[in-house]
Amino acid sequence: MALIELRRIFKSYFLHGKRIDVLRDVSLDIEKGELVSLIGPSGAGKSTFLHVLGTLDAPAAGTMTFDGRSVFTMNDAELAELRNRSIGFVFQSHFLLPEFTAVENVAMPALLRRLDRKQALHDARELLERMGLLARAEHRPGELSGGESQRVALARALVLKPTLLLADEPTGNLDPATGESIHNLLREVNRELGVTAVVVTHNEELARSMPRQLRMATGSILPVVPEGGEGEDAPLSPAVPTPPTPAAATPEATPGFPEEGGE
Ligand code: ADP
Repeated sequence: MALIELRRIFKSYFLHGKRIDVLRDVSLDIEKGELVSLIGPSGAGKSTFLHVLGTLDAPAAGTMTFDGRSVFTMNDAELAELRNRSIGFVFQSHFLLPEFTAVENVAMPALLRRLDRKQALHDARELLERMGLLARAEHRPGELSGGESQRVALARALVLKPTLLLADEPTGNLDPATGESIHNLLREVNRELGVTAVVVTHNEELARSMPRQLRMATGSILPVVPEGGEGEDAPLSPAVPTPPTPAAATPEATPGFPEEGGE
């Protein structure tokens, strides 16, 4: 059983009366411990896909299991619990709280859960050390560079020891060298902490440095490098074999499909 099993995911938005089909029948498995990059042109739907994966957004149709548990049948409280316990997020902007120090920012998810404060700050310090930022632990975000802030955000995403880390263009605001250092850290935490990670990036070179590479285009997700292939894009085939068609998962058979969106 894969950590994540997505089957026949559809998602559309409505904008000015026009329907944009962003995810069109996406099926994908992500194994525990994988490090996956996702590239694709702007507007291809990468963020939308990551939001669905992170349970921040529900698709119009399709199913997802997380560690064997069916996700889209959970109620809001169960979803929030899954997100809090099992999923860490890093975005293009670091969203650090300016009035708190780096170590407090990293510890914040644990403090909000009312976990032991001393332990939370200890864990936060350990993660900052891993990020090479122990010397900055007592600094506030205003005193940190963009790359340092993003490393603090990465530490914060890891403090509750998530199973899955989702990063949406984490290097989008950084210069190439700093971006590379963030990707190196992502590889390191994947390897050493065993966290499964999906990283959306515009940077083809950084994407290619990840063990598994996916590309998003016209609503589909395809592997960039086929098994045993060398750098060429794969022919048009789904990342995993298409499962049997549940009648309700086709857009035609899903009454809710056209109504969704306008968010
Ligand atoms: P990417 O991350 O690859 O740049 P997005 O997932 O952000 O792509 O967006 C995919 C498409 O969906 C784009 O055409 C975008 O304009 C549209 N879109 C994204 N979010 C919304 C929304 N909340 N409402 C309407 N359209 C949206």
